[in-house]
Amino acid sequence: MLEHEIEVVVSSDQTWLEDVQPSPYADQLAKGFRRLRFSRPLESEYRRHRQGESSMLKRVALVFTLLIWLAFIAIDMLLIPPPYLGWILAVRLAVLGVLLGLVGLLLWGVRLSCYQPLSILGALALGLGIAAIVPIGRLYDPNYPYEGLLLASIAIYFLLGLRLIEAALCALALMLIYAGVEVLSGLPLVELTSNLLFLLCSNLIGGVGCYLLEYKSREDFLLRNLMRLLADHDSLTGLNNRRSFNRQFERLWRQALRESKSLALLLCDIDHFKAYNDRYGHQAGDVVLQRVGTLLQEAARRPLDMAVRLGGEEFAVLLYDIGEMEARHRADAMRKALETLGIEHEKSTTASVLTMSVGVACICPGEEGAFAVLYEHADRALYEAKAFGRNRVVA
Ligand code: GH3
Ligand code: MG
Ligand code: MG
Repeated sequence: MLEHEIEVVVSSDQTWLEDVQPSPYADQLAKGFRRLRFSRPLESEYRRHRQGESSMLKRVALVFTLLIWLAFIAIDMLLIPPPYLGWILAVRLAVLGVLLGLVGLLLWGVRLSCYQPLSILGALALGLGIAAIVPIGRLYDPNYPYEGLLLASIAIYFLLGLRLIEAALCALALMLIYAGVEVLSGLPLVELTSNLLFLLCSNLIGGVGCYLLEYKSREDFLLRNLMRLLADHDSLTGLNNRRSFNRQFERLWRQALRESKSLALLLCDIDHFKAYNDRYGHQAGDVVLQRVGTLLQEAARRPLDMAVRLGGEEFAVLLYDIGEMEARHRADAMRKALETLGIEHEKSTTASVLTMSVGVACICPGEEGAFAVLYEHADRALYEAKAFGRNRVVA
């Protein structure tokens, strides 16, 4: 019974993903990532995202560690008699030097990609320091605590923003270092085993917690990107929608200004599309819109070009760094490409196949009004293309 219920929940949970595929994010969500690994290009995208996401946590953790370390130095100075104090302080100051070095690197503005190795280095220095202090402390007090290592390994899992695999390797290395130091210091086997057992348990707790955190962080990354994709794209054709078009236009406009390049806007409107729907049905109309979408997407293949579904059967292609003649040429190629598809349209009074009209406008940066002007010119050109008999380009 319960199994059946779970199956229903899982399958209904997945159905919505089928509706938004293909998208690398939806594919990965559907495929799952229990081993905390995405497929190739997504994995590197996630790691870059995570570098940015965890940088603040790493900075806070460093300051936090530094303060605690200073507090322990103060406590040592109050409680530990010479000559042990001198030895312990030597270790504490060496680690403090490493921590301050890391602070210096942060202030100096070291690259984000260095945060990960540096935080691992800091954690290992800290662990080595604690592991070295414990046997020294035991020389004057047989019950000198080793528990600082438990705190350090938990901090590695939760405070450094490391991925599980990195945190686990780092914490296990710390455990090995500690075991090595204690073997050298001659700690009785029973005590060593007991300490290592506690350390192992703190690793297990840290590992499970870190797994859950990373799983959620990965899921959040996929969902957030998927939502952005859905918000920016038209669900029928997969082209950018008007909202993302406006945003991209602003960005391109500023870039065009900086680089003194021109922009061209091609407004496309399918001819007699209402008649097409009436004759062949709305669903056939949708298929046509998808085919036109593919065609326009191919026309906007350069990285800064953009094809958009503005709404209904109206599309736009924004071309970067292009003169008026060339833009006109590209528009005519698009128009011809649709005509050549040969989609039958008996109710069209323009041709026997489906056609479109295109209005072209070009603008050079520096001209007033930007988007409004460009859009108005292209719209007027489209109106003229319709008025002059459709299936044509007017610039
Ligand atoms: P014109 O040549 O002057 O452009 O005529 P038209 O019929 O193409 O233009 P009109 O604006 O009168 O009609 C547009 C039609 O587009 C009306 C509507 O049924 C259809 N349409 C809008 N959105 C969709 C859609 O998502 N799917 C389908 N199948 N049809 C749509
Ligand atoms: Mg229209
Ligand atoms: Mg139309």
